Amino acid sequence: MKKTAIIAGSGAEHLSPFRDWESILVPTRFGTAEIRQGEISGKPVLFVARHGKEHSTAPHLINYRAIISALSELEAVRVIGTAAVGSLSNSIPPGTAAVLTDIIDFTRRGPITFFDDPAAGVVHTDFSEPYCSEISAVLLAAAEASGLEVTTPCTYICTDGPRYETPAEISMFRSWGADVVGMTNAPEVILSREAGLCYGSIAIITNFAAGISPKPLSHSEVVECMKSIEEKLAAALIGAVQALPTSWPCNCGRSTIG
Ligand SMILES: [Zn+2]
Repeated sequence: MKKTAIIAGSGAEHLSPFRDWESILVPTRFGTAEIRQGEISGKPVLFVARHGKEHSTAPHLINYRAIISALSELEAVRVIGTAAVGSLSNSIPPGTAAVLTDIIDFTRRGPITFFDDPAAGVVHTDFSEPYCSEISAVLLAAAEASGLEVTTPCTYICTDGPRYETPAEISMFRSWGADVVGMTNAPEVILSREAGLCYGSIAIITNFAAGISPKPLSHSEVVECMKSIEEKLAAALIGAVQALPTSWPCNCGRSTIG
């Protein structure tokens, strides 16, 4: 049966509904990924702790290609990602959830792609709609039903990390139209699309970004904020999985142009 996968980001690794699911190691040609397997209302679901069980893998060291390949091999057809993000706007305060609708890829580590084999030819992937509109609609409804304050549309800008941004960078990102900043969504949204998986993301604003926040940024405030909304986030994820229909008319899996 086709499966939904949840990739849980910072502060969502230990959400109670998924904590005790059986974990398996899935070898791929890019390396090994650790995937948990379980069920929600009779539907098979895969769960990945993006930074590892104990938040031990920094954003720039995550093996995204292994994770997405493993999910694909285990018959995932759609992915819901969670992300802890910084806000670029006073009107989106910490504790708010955002259903992401667009992305600026500001990573500079080199191409993020599965299509790097010259023998396979040149492949350009359409990104007119980076996030799956069908998953986003379901996520919005589920997040609101769980009691979260939700904002959408929302544009995410992705940096390499692991350091936080400077005030000048944040000012520039804001002028480009970004609403929130994080370190993980670009690789996931790009590789998922290339692999033909629908990808939707719910971000939790955990802090104001540099230059907006009155104090230095720290990972502990991220963890603290995630802790305060974790039950609602878990309810939103479960609600979204329950509500996702078996098929829908999006174009995510049909948008790769060779
Ligand atoms: Zn889709």
